Amino acid sequence: MEQIIKKPANIIPRPNLRDYDDALETFKWESAYDQVEWFDGKLNAAYNAVDRHAKSHRRDKVALYWQGVDRNEKYTFFEMSRLSNRFANVLTDLGIEKHDRVFIFLPRVPETYISFLGILKTGAIAGTMFSAFGPEGLYDRLHNSGARYLITNSSLKERVYQIKDDLVDLERLIIVDCDDGVGVADDEVSYTEAMKNASETFDTVQMLPDDPAFMLYTSGTTGKPKGVVHRHLAIVQQHVTTKWVLDLHEDDIYWCTADPGWVTGISYGLLGPFSCGASVVVYDGRFDPEVWYSVIEKYQVNVWYSAPTAFRLLAQAPDAHKSHDLSSLRHICSVGEPLNSEIVHWGVRTFGLPIHDNFWQTETGGILIANYPSLPIKPGWMGKPIPGIKAAIVDDSGCEVARGVEGNLALVADFPSLMLTIWKNSAKYREYFSGGWYFTGDRAVQHEDGYFLFIGRADDVINTSGERVGPFEVESALIEHPAIVEAGVIGKPDALRGEIIKAFVVLAPGYEPSDELTSDVKRFVKTRLAGHAYPREFEIVDTLPKTRSGKIVRRMLRAKELGLPIGDVSTLEE
Ligand code: AMP
Repeated sequence: MEQIIKKPANIIPRPNLRDYDDALETFKWESAYDQVEWFDGKLNAAYNAVDRHAKSHRRDKVALYWQGVDRNEKYTFFEMSRLSNRFANVLTDLGIEKHDRVFIFLPRVPETYISFLGILKTGAIAGTMFSAFGPEGLYDRLHNSGARYLITNSSLKERVYQIKDDLVDLERLIIVDCDDGVGVADDEVSYTEAMKNASETFDTVQMLPDDPAFMLYTSGTTGKPKGVVHRHLAIVQQHVTTKWVLDLHEDDIYWCTADPGWVTGISYGLLGPFSCGASVVVYDGRFDPEVWYSVIEKYQVNVWYSAPTAFRLLAQAPDAHKSHDLSSLRHICSVGEPLNSEIVHWGVRTFGLPIHDNFWQTETGGILIANYPSLPIKPGWMGKPIPGIKAAIVDDSGCEVARGVEGNLALVADFPSLMLTIWKNSAKYREYFSGGWYFTGDRAVQHEDGYFLFIGRADDVINTSGERVGPFEVESALIEHPAIVEAGVIGKPDALRGEIIKAFVVLAPGYEPSDELTSDVKRFVKTRLAGHAYPREFEIVDTLPKTRSGKIVRRMLRAKELGLPIGDVSTLEE
């Protein structure tokens, strides 16, 4: 029998979702629409995140506690509302209109949150980019989205200038860290100056539920990263799941460790928790167990949302928590990659709390499957579907399989936070759907008791430390190096990071394997891709396995690497 962790009643005195089975049976999304504020059938996610609280008893409540490396700041809902209004005015004065794309390339600074909300208020589409991206990653996103403005800082902008001449749609950069305009080039906008001159009142643009709000790029198996577009209506699901799964209550202090360059940092680092009126902690700094625990202690964090790799790293520093008072913690959640049951038990031993796994994706914009405060945890399992969705395991033709049988994890395609489209690629968007199902691209099993178990990706997408990396992007960067003619990239299982990236490369004539060459290639790839996407392992090979049509067969590389059966080879090159 599976081991189940039953939680003592005193851990979660009054979970928001008290009767899961009842909600599963009765809940309809329309009934949750009144949890957000509408204007005659229209809404705006940013208004719901901050403005409505600024007009309520939460006006002077702290919305954002920001902890930088050597200083910290805090902002109330009223201040967030006013500052994002100012930024909306800045953009409007610059000519930004509804549906224009405005991107943010910043670390986790308050301006990231303020400008994101300001963009949404104008009706434009906000895009965020992880601050570790290199010029290539930036180019793909800014070029494909046709972003008109980019908000960045004086050090990150250097990477943008390496590609700016090729970005015909990108008009100007807005630089956040140049006080009084000092250090801002003539064609740049100083954030500080512009904000000073902008009015703090703004008529938030009222959007249709299906109007786009933000977009994030994510990797598939082939091609460049895809621009996943989310609509304003998604705030309903983000709001409701923040309550049900993260179990945020009125007085909670909440810390989401995800970067706003990825979807978790937006849906549950910003929109969902602000929408619920919670106080959000943002820590902008390197991972360090001592510092992380001190953040929990200093801000008295009650609810903590992080990822398996981070928990595994913390577990490697077994004594670090002992010098901190972590008794404020009430609820811990995890997302992004499989959460091993050992880590769930480590949570119990270390914090007296189990870690609640949940599952979702960039494309689904909100949580889909979860372990809930009011239900027993099944360690190693992702949990049960949220009320309001139908999740199932189906075969390749979309027929549901029996409980206990592995298949494709699919959802009936009608929930509020499901992506609106893939930017400029409706063919790619359509590929996700068949027979009324949305296919996640993941393989899973549903147990008799309703819990889902993650098996793996159905495609070659790599998940390293919870971040999704497309092998094609890494291969493309590798073959730009003069010494490499061909490259095949796989995810290799790793106890700490889930998977690491391994590259198999074929050298160009005249090049010999050497440590210097390997370091040079690593450096080269690092400058083109974000740090997390560079291969930690290289192997130089004479040839790569290919199909008759010349496609690299990554599953064979993986099978060889792991000593697994090679499978069907009938379509391979001689
Ligand atoms: P992303 O779109 O970058 O958030 O990545 C989504 C992918 O991460 C999913 O399709 C899964 O492959 C994986 N993933 C997310 N959450 C979990 C989880 N709780 N357990 C296992 N895999 C997960």
